[in-house]
Amino acid sequence: MQKVTDRDLLLVIDVQNDFCPGGALAVPEGDAIVPTINRLARDFTHVVLTQDWHPPGHASFASTHPGRQPFEAIELPYGTQILWPDHCVQGTPGAAFHPDLDIPHAELVLRKGYHPAIDSYSAFQENDRKTATGLAAYLRERGFGRITLCGLATDFCVFFSAIDAAKAGFATTVVLDACRGIDRDGSIARALDEMRAAGVTLL
Ligand SMILES: [Zn+2]
Repeated sequence: MQKVTDRDLLLVIDVQNDFCPGGALAVPEGDAIVPTINRLARDFTHVVLTQDWHPPGHASFASTHPGRQPFEAIELPYGTQILWPDHCVQGTPGAAFHPDLDIPHAELVLRKGYHPAIDSYSAFQENDRKTATGLAAYLRERGFGRITLCGLATDFCVFFSAIDAAKAGFATTVVLDACRGIDRDGSIARALDEMRAAGVTLL
């Protein structure tokens, strides 16, 4: 990796109990990356954490739509949405960060997915592709130019966040051994191809 400077920021995506083995929407080996992320974070002065943070009855939950099952796709007013098991409900243990995540110097916890009717995979823009989270403005105002991403899941929240970071003009890197994916129907391979095509550096 290039030398980390004061313009660098590490963005740690959704390292929460529900995305780890035993959680409601477990990513295979999701917990295995926690020590790697802790080590990576020590190299960065500036770290931001994201936290998926849904109200009960969120539009992305299959349980909200009678007759629907998790992992089915549904049409919502903003487009196609995959339905998930109830996960990362605000204030529940599943929404908490993994207990071994050890990044006390993180400067901001950015919560996303709190609008009842809109999901948010990306740390920058919600799934309607219109509603901004405010993160791009925050990072610009803080003077960061290079964003390094890690966390869960490679093919969803890390992927969409990396694409949006690159689109917003940040030099963007994803550290793959500090990520794990869900991999539905080849979604990891597709995500890697699309990130490369968008100019994201994959390490
Ligand atoms: Zn979610």
